[in-house]
Amino acid sequence: MRQIAIVGVGKIARDQHVPAIAGSNAFELAATASRHGTVEGVEAFHSLDELLEARPDIPCISLCTPPQVRYGDARLALEAGRHVMLEKPPGATLSEMHDLVALANAQGVTLFATWHSREAAAVDAARDWLRGKTIRSVEIVWKEDVRRWHPGQEWIWEPGGLGVFDPGINALSVLTAVYPRALHLQAAELEFPANRGTPIAASLSFRDPGGAEVSAVFDWRQEGPQTWDVRIETDEGPAVLMDGGAKLVLGEAGDDGPAALDEEYPRLYARFAELLDKGESDVDLSPMRHVADAFTLGRRVETAPFDW
Ligand code: NAP
Repeated sequence: MRQIAIVGVGKIARDQHVPAIAGSNAFELAATASRHGTVEGVEAFHSLDELLEARPDIPCISLCTPPQVRYGDARLALEAGRHVMLEKPPGATLSEMHDLVALANAQGVTLFATWHSREAAAVDAARDWLRGKTIRSVEIVWKEDVRRWHPGQEWIWEPGGLGVFDPGINALSVLTAVYPRALHLQAAELEFPANRGTPIAASLSFRDPGGAEVSAVFDWRQEGPQTWDVRIETDEGPAVLMDGGAKLVLGEAGDDGPAALDEEYPRLYARFAELLDKGESDVDLSPMRHVADAFTLGRRVETAPFDW
């Protein structure tokens, strides 16, 4: 068992990381660093600085903070020779990430930029099914209610918090995992609430060298049923990845049963253990690159102010 510490005890740490580590036979939660949050029965520090100083015996650090503050802590941990796992999005800018990759390499430690949606039950099956088929179009619809999933989280509306790209980047992590070729963004429109620094909705279209039409719509204003679907039309019929990648429906038959069990975070920790065993890093920045492109290329439109 390797000892691991969590930094940023908030929503995702409590919902997913703590239970996934508790169920893992590769890791043991040895400490936390958070200004306010703690985990019962686990040694708690107020900052990563203090933790690194007091616990040189903890080799692994899992960063669960918002993206704007992730780089500073990642650097501290890597400089202290610890292996680091990053929540998605891995940081606030691509340049930060290149810097961390170089530092991890220089230190000879593992850096793992996680994409939890890629671990959804049906994503691997979708990638395998698409192999060798002619893809005609891809339509991503990722619509959810920000009040339900991010209650009161102000950081998502601040620069670097990504706004609707916080969930949208999950869709892009699935697309880049299943798609057989590299795509690039060719147009985007971003809707910014008049009183906020990040978008509440976005539509994107991509250029595929294979000729398929590839588009995505992200929206944070959807009440009622939530939609996280990727519909792919091929020469052998459609494939629809539903429920954020939990379920794959092939052909026109439609819904064919419940989504598989959610194992995203246990799979991420198993992958981290595998990387540590092999002495490797895994940092795929392609989902983040598409988001950065949307912020540089996208047309900005002002929309109604947003208040909780
Ligand atoms: P959160 O609860 O708002 O933040 C996590 C914790 O980070 C906070 O409780 C806070 O703990 C600490 N923190 C440190 N600096 C902060 C700052 N400047 N502003 C706010 N909090 C700060 O967020 P979260 O939902 O867990 O999301 C964290 C990361 O996980 C994000 O990158 C997000 O995209 C990703 N994620 C979230 C979900 C989800 O369902 N929410 C799902 C998958 C991935 P202290 O006050 O104790 O320091």
